[in-house]
Amino acid sequence: MHKWVLLSCLLWSLSATAQKGDDLAITHVTVIDCTGRAAQPNSTVVISEGHISLVGSSDAVTTPADGRVIDAHGKFLIPGLWDMHGHLTDATEDAFPLLIMNGVTGVRDMGGDLAQIDRWRSEIDSGLRVGPHIIRAGPFVDGPKQGVTNRLTVRTPQEARQAVHDLKAKGVDFIKVHNALPPEAFFALMDEARKEHIPVAVHLPQGVSSAEASNAGVASLEHIETINESALWRKGATAKTVEQAVDENLGPAGQELFQLFVKNGTWYVPTLVAYERGFVLWSNDPEALKPRLDVHEKQIELVRKMHKAGVQIMAGSDFSDWAMVPGVDLHNELALLVEAGFSPQEALQAATLNPARFLGKTGTYGTIQVGRVADLVLLDMNPLEDISHTRKINAVVLGGKFYPVASLRARTLHDAASRP
Ligand SMILES: [Zn+2]
Repeated sequence: MHKWVLLSCLLWSLSATAQKGDDLAITHVTVIDCTGRAAQPNSTVVISEGHISLVGSSDAVTTPADGRVIDAHGKFLIPGLWDMHGHLTDATEDAFPLLIMNGVTGVRDMGGDLAQIDRWRSEIDSGLRVGPHIIRAGPFVDGPKQGVTNRLTVRTPQEARQAVHDLKAKGVDFIKVHNALPPEAFFALMDEARKEHIPVAVHLPQGVSSAEASNAGVASLEHIETINESALWRKGATAKTVEQAVDENLGPAGQELFQLFVKNGTWYVPTLVAYERGFVLWSNDPEALKPRLDVHEKQIELVRKMHKAGVQIMAGSDFSDWAMVPGVDLHNELALLVEAGFSPQEALQAATLNPARFLGKTGTYGTIQVGRVADLVLLDMNPLEDISHTRKINAVVLGGKFYPVASLRARTLHDAASRP
């Protein structure tokens, strides 16, 4: 080991020791706690041992004598954001600095290399690496497909049931189904997953309609465009083109479908930004762009109708190794949700409270309340006035550790981890 490595290890262990047990208080800040409560100006949030221990008016709360105090007068505090659709294996560990510096403190990993993700996860948990909390599916459950990795290839109902047991044995948090899974295998998988109490997130397999998937008990449907693809292959389909399918879903057929999602408790992660930036705008040819933009605008309208109908929606970017930028594109998704009629508060909730509700972890994540893990984003401007202000990040608090944005520059983030 080089001398400087040893020295830096020593320094980091010293600084980690010095920080341990120290309280942190953020004072005179406007708290947007994402419970649905109005913004609370002049508030103090006290953090001890990585958790929120006190929230109250700065006039009433006394800050701990030995703790660090951040005067955040004029600033705004929101819970850490969750990207509910990402692929860390494809994005690689290079995604971690980008996620954290953009205030993304949690990721639902929608398919990748389980062993590698678990290695990262334990390095993050033990403080060797700065990164988000990770909920992961492990390998995709998919039908036979060329040129793809991290798949559990399933052809028959029997193999589908076996896949549920294999994945459960590996301890995955949920199962991710992809689009080549044969319909009979899909329904068998859903049946087995229900018995084994494992949630299933679904990129609709070809031949399975959104209604059938919802009735089969999927936890979440992914990507807005799949609802239109499914209108082309559902039983009794009349739509022949994507344009016709979108129009059908914008009418009474869509309303009926959304009511079904509400009744079944099916969540939707539209990943509008992936469609917009990864596909619609990916051309220099106006002739190619025009029809795609028309469909995109109608899909935003679909999300508006879905939201109005009461369907539960979460924010996800589908960051991976193509077109999307981890962290950055979650903010683009929030803006698109506002374009789809969400209030800024509702858009924030789609990346905070809703993920916590979906994961059954409202006691741990998603709001600024006593007892929650101290994952927070300090903003220079009010996101309730303009959702683009979620990008005006001053600092990120991750598990109680305070990272001013300057120290979150990618180059120094590795050093920010407290090495043992
Ligand atoms: Zn994906």
